[in-house]
Amino acid sequence: MIWQKKKRGEAFVHPDKCDGCGNCVKICRHRVLEMTATENGKRTVARNTFRCTGCGKCIAVCPQKAIEIIF
Ligand code: SF4
Ligand code: SF4
Repeated sequence: MIWQKKKRGEAFVHPDKCDGCGNCVKICRHRVLEMTATENGKRTVARNTFRCTGCGKCIAVCPQKAIEIIF
């Protein structure tokens, strides 16, 4: 699994914090976030970050505070 690198203005999911609940995947209209399987279970990764508008909706619904956007 190749995790993303942090880039300004794009959602970044901390894989060590994410528990794979899927809230962020459901709320993102731009389909930036995808579930992926790891050896520790399901996790979310931001794959299509070129589509991310930085709206912050995914951050608001994340119970683990696993998503970050650097501005
Ligand atoms: S900040 Fe908005 S567009 Fe970007 S991943 Fe989160 S919900 Fe999707
Ligand atoms: S809302 Fe947070 S904990 Fe849930 S899948 Fe997304 S990043 Fe992971």
